Amino acid sequence: SHGSEGGRVRSSFLIVANRLPVDRTIAADGTASWRRSPGGLVTAIAPVMQRRDGAWLGWHGAPDEELKPFEHDGMSLIPVPLSAGEVEMYYEGFSNATLWPLYHDVVATPVFSRVLWDAYRAVNERFARAAADAAAENAVVWVQDYQLQLVPSMLRALRPDLRIGFFLHIPFPPAELFWQLPWRREILEGLLGADLVGFQRPGGASNFIRLCRRQLGLQNQRQEIFVGDRTVRAEAFPISVDFGELDSLVREPHILARAKEIRAELGEPEHVLLGVDRLDYTKGIGQRLKAFGELLADKTISPGEAVFVQIATPSRERVETYRHLRDEIELRVGRVNGLHGVLGVPPVNYFHQSYDREELAALYCAADVMVVTPLRDGMNLVAKEYVACRHDLRGALVLSEFAGAADELKHAYLVNPYDVEGLKRQMVAAMRATPHELSRRMRSMRRRVATYDVDRWAGEFLAALER
Ligand code: ADP
Repeated sequence: SHGSEGGRVRSSFLIVANRLPVDRTIAADGTASWRRSPGGLVTAIAPVMQRRDGAWLGWHGAPDEELKPFEHDGMSLIPVPLSAGEVEMYYEGFSNATLWPLYHDVVATPVFSRVLWDAYRAVNERFARAAADAAAENAVVWVQDYQLQLVPSMLRALRPDLRIGFFLHIPFPPAELFWQLPWRREILEGLLGADLVGFQRPGGASNFIRLCRRQLGLQNQRQEIFVGDRTVRAEAFPISVDFGELDSLVREPHILARAKEIRAELGEPEHVLLGVDRLDYTKGIGQRLKAFGELLADKTISPGEAVFVQIATPSRERVETYRHLRDEIELRVGRVNGLHGVLGVPPVNYFHQSYDREELAALYCAADVMVVTPLRDGMNLVAKEYVACRHDLRGALVLSEFAGAADELKHAYLVNPYDVEGLKRQMVAAMRATPHELSRRMRSMRRRVATYDVDRWAGEFLAALER
């Protein structure tokens, strides 16, 4: 289904995302090679791309460098260049200092700056042009996430023949918050260039529809918004994980052995609690450490009886709010350990590091209580990964109501992370639950994640787009 025009290959199926699904690694002798990035999106989409002769268009991760299209792992990759200034203003600036906090309930104050907006628009234009060049006649183009919300309308203006889908991986905020954005109209119009706009939760879709009515005066009938002679569908498609891959990984003896070893290294505590997050202010890491610290302070639990392992992956370290957050979390960890630790037994084991999939899977298997307490989160894949790793039907999930995953994982120990007492209560309930209670909850959560895995997510989105 590849068409060729002027020697250039055009694809009938195109993914457009901020990043290509590969990372460059440099060997000791200086030779560079590409490695597929970890993560569910590429796992879900790679087979679809191979089936349909697709291509993936995105930035390759190095500023100020132009690269020719190349093949990797059976995928056609089309690099889009970004200058160092654009990385700062479009990516770190408008995407991560304006849209990210605004879309996550303004838990940090968004930066509104016209130069950042200009950079965002310019980069979106470049992506749209590149997509217009790469797409074959009547191709299906699937645009991903908040960095590229103007691409659907820009692309439609260039190529009205295309079928365009958009999926927002982060929350879409309530109208009252979105309203603050000086460029609210442009963003809504940008998204409406798509035939299908997908959200994580039904609430995101209805926020969007409500804004289209109020801001743009458009009419709708349920999920369908009428835009001139077109209709645009706004609908929820909750993303998921590769259940099968994780489920079989943790059945391998070396993962189980490593999980046992982790518990031994922690001093065989009765309860291992675990947090795994990017170090982000939306994740509620401080809230859960506060709750854990108070449980130690009021002697509900004793050091050595319960150990908290918090893994906080380095993230967006050039954005100021993230540097402050790191200081704040590390201060809190130090306080809890300083106040409640005994020699050789720190109550909190904190790591500002990345881990590979296998070590992460072993940690999930070693944890009695997985503590996932975001203040706002589009989905939260960590919660679903934990569930996928517990075929032993042990382990409790403490989960924030403010994560998209809470819509599906109703048998988690649900919490409001702003309510410290409630959080403490649920953490204790999770630690003290009977095996029977744990397996009852885990079985039901596993049924959900096994059925609605990431393949099903991609499949349902594309089926709706092509309907
Ligand atoms: P977000 O997309 O906001 O980072 P998610 O929970 O949806 O949050 O996804 C995070 C992904 O990153 C998960 O797949 C998780 O396994 C992975 N991850 C998180 N922390 C680490 C870490 N320290 N090392 C390796 N992978 C990590």
